[in-house]
Amino acid sequence: MSDDAAQPADHDQLTLVWFRDDLRVDDHEALTAARTDGQVIGIWIREQRDADGLGPRPLGAAARWWAHESLRALGTELDGLGIPLLFAAGPAADIIPQAAAELGVDAVRWSRRYAPASRALDAKIKTLLTDAGCAAHSNPGALLVEPWTVSPQSGDFYKVFTPFFNAVRDRKVGDVLPVPAKQPPLPEARQAAMDDHDWVSDLDGLGLRDGTGHRNESGTDSGGTDMGTDGTTSARVPQWWKSTVAQHWSPGCREAQRQLQGLGESIDGYGDSHDVPGDPDSTSALSPRLRFGELSPRQALAAALDLPDISDDDRYAWIRQLYWREFSWHLTYHLPHIETEPMRSEFARFPYEDDPEALKHWQNGTTGIPLVDAGMAQLWQAGWMHNRVRMATASFLTKNLLIHWWHGEQWFWDTLVDADEANNPVSWQWVAGCGADAAPYFRIFNPERQRERFDPHGEYVNRWLGQGPGGLTQAERAGEDCEPIVDLKASRQAALAAYDRMKAESD
Ligand code: FAD
Repeated sequence: MSDDAAQPADHDQLTLVWFRDDLRVDDHEALTAARTDGQVIGIWIREQRDADGLGPRPLGAAARWWAHESLRALGTELDGLGIPLLFAAGPAADIIPQAAAELGVDAVRWSRRYAPASRALDAKIKTLLTDAGCAAHSNPGALLVEPWTVSPQSGDFYKVFTPFFNAVRDRKVGDVLPVPAKQPPLPEARQAAMDDHDWVSDLDGLGLRDGTGHRNESGTDSGGTDMGTDGTTSARVPQWWKSTVAQHWSPGCREAQRQLQGLGESIDGYGDSHDVPGDPDSTSALSPRLRFGELSPRQALAAALDLPDISDDDRYAWIRQLYWREFSWHLTYHLPHIETEPMRSEFARFPYEDDPEALKHWQNGTTGIPLVDAGMAQLWQAGWMHNRVRMATASFLTKNLLIHWWHGEQWFWDTLVDADEANNPVSWQWVAGCGADAAPYFRIFNPERQRERFDPHGEYVNRWLGQGPGGLTQAERAGEDCEPIVDLKASRQAALAAYDRMKAESD
């Protein structure tokens, strides 16, 4: 955390700051503005999509674990600033107006979010608040570039990364904001009344950690969808799973800053080494920090620009990746159904196969293809996977097994700690060949060639293979031999033939 304290003006408003994917106290425009106006109460809601489908996508299992830990850390940071943090669960369109009225706040503020279903919900809540006489303000904070501020001369939005990047790369992004100053205690009566509201929960009551207590928008119990070792969702929360993920990560904005201080290790040599999954410093592993806003992209950019003794090639190779995240959000802002609808519409007719057995092998990391199984094991153990291996495992699922990218996208959604409403579907579509800026379909990754090229000495595969569900070896896990479940050459030919069929039907 920065030690500099922004001095608030002597105003006496009370603002409810609704935290969402911005679980930090520094470089937080909404929080800073609210402190400038006076005093602050914070709130975080475990949201449900409303009857119209408005709101964010319900968190997957790994992200729920992260959110719980990160919220606990945020609570501590806010406590140090004299700001209470309240928790609630349910439809935000009910809770926020009720909270604003019962807490008697003058205004509600939040950092913007950009997925169409969330934007629509926020617009609805803004109207409800203003109709009730309460001010509502949104601030930037999750992106370097507001999506509506950039468009090509032809068309509404960019569909190809490089022109998007060229259009935005030199934009000024403003200075990183310091942590706001500590606020004086809220009046005692207000403090005492805070817990009395029936919508208030404590952090544990949100059910983020135990996988219970929440229903998703379709009414099925999404809280129980922690991973079962049979590759299906299961009410049996594997105890080992959360403890192994916890060995790899310490969520929270203070930890994010600590991790950011080591950024130089990853950026130094990034141009050459970012594709080497066996090197733990080959990339920054900041993705869950950015996903949950423990770190703003502006802080990440500033840190990269400030690094001494780094070649500009490495520095800008890394910064370019940060802008891939911006590009994913640019697309997501404009495409309401990106998690289900292919950006290239002809792919709606792609002849995918229904093969639950093969899907289970892929999920459990028992395909018999070492790089794929090691990647899926890293996902089980760490809730995270190196980008090069994400591409290889996704390509294997969609092209060698011919399984619909939805299934992979949903599995990653449930198992990645950085599962992101924009990056995940956009990346899956890119690999599956149906994304706007996707590689040509015929470029099918061969996971064996990928392993030889990017993990020639086996550091990655040896580290993760045999560390899948429950830490069992592949054979112990499934009681099966681990011969490849598919012939790579033949399945590649089958994928190309399927693609040709789709093209023929589209012409
Ligand atoms: P670094 O290489 O250090 O890059 C810095 C930051 O830039 C990352 O933290 C991330 O925010 C951004 N970034 C890097 N690569 C990409 C990329 N290809 N696309 C978009 N942003 C990028 N990323 C997610 O954050 N959430 C997801 O749910 C997600 N799902 C993916 C699914 C598939 C099938 C694939 C192929 C990629 C996915 N990615 C996702 C993108 C990428 O794999 C991760 O962002 C990256 O591995 C994070 O590692 P890092 O933080 O060490 O990245």
